[in-house]
Amino acid sequence: MTRILLVEDDAAIRRALRRSLEDQGDAVAVAPDGMTGLRLVLSEQPDVVLLDLGLPDVDGLRMLGMLRGVSDVPVIVVTAQDDDRTVVKALDAGADDYVVKPFGTEQVQARIRAVLRRASRPTGGEGPVVVAGLSIDPRSRSASLDGERLELSRKEFDLLFLLASRSGEVVTKRELLAEVWQQPYGGAERTVDVHLSWLRRKLGETAAQPRYLHSVRGVGVRLADPGDE
Ligand code: CA
Repeated sequence: MTRILLVEDDAAIRRALRRSLEDQGDAVAVAPDGMTGLRLVLSEQPDVVLLDLGLPDVDGLRMLGMLRGVSDVPVIVVTAQDDDRTVVKALDAGADDYVVKPFGTEQVQARIRAVLRRASRPTGGEGPVVVAGLSIDPRSRSASLDGERLELSRKEFDLLFLLASRSGEVVTKRELLAEVWQQPYGGAERTVDVHLSWLRRKLGETAAQPRYLHSVRGVGVRLADPGDE
């Protein structure tokens, strides 16, 4: 049984979603606004939160920030339209995935299963990955370059860790969307581009003058030891 918290102000959507999730045996708590949602995150300790970004009392992205301040629970944000910028901001603010309204309940259920699979994936036993001056430790979720600690967002860290784990290999944007953003059927490749550009800035390099991160036009990206290039 999965304990789901649904934060949604639209009563019709709330009812329909609750019914279909309960039909498959999940326990569903509902909140009609952000403040109730935050309170329930703490009191109900849900396994996953479905968070509508258009709430009456608090901006959805601020809500996500407050939620992340108190909990690491996986969060799937629900956006009204396919607004790439909002989606990228939400993912960077700590959302694990997103769905765009209108959506089918089967899609939501698949996203929930995917984030839960990912959340339960064991990370113990994985040692740090080192490529030249770059060191990434999945256990402490810390990374450094030439001994200097890198301040990375969750997605930037996941992206860097995946690329470094497969250093020397070209990883496609589709694979990155599947692994880092749990979008196995593809999605906004621009999301990957945006995060790669942020990552490059933090590594002190550019797409035109790469050291570690090499774009392979039309294919993807390869993380390489600068000494091998
Ligand atoms: Ca709404």
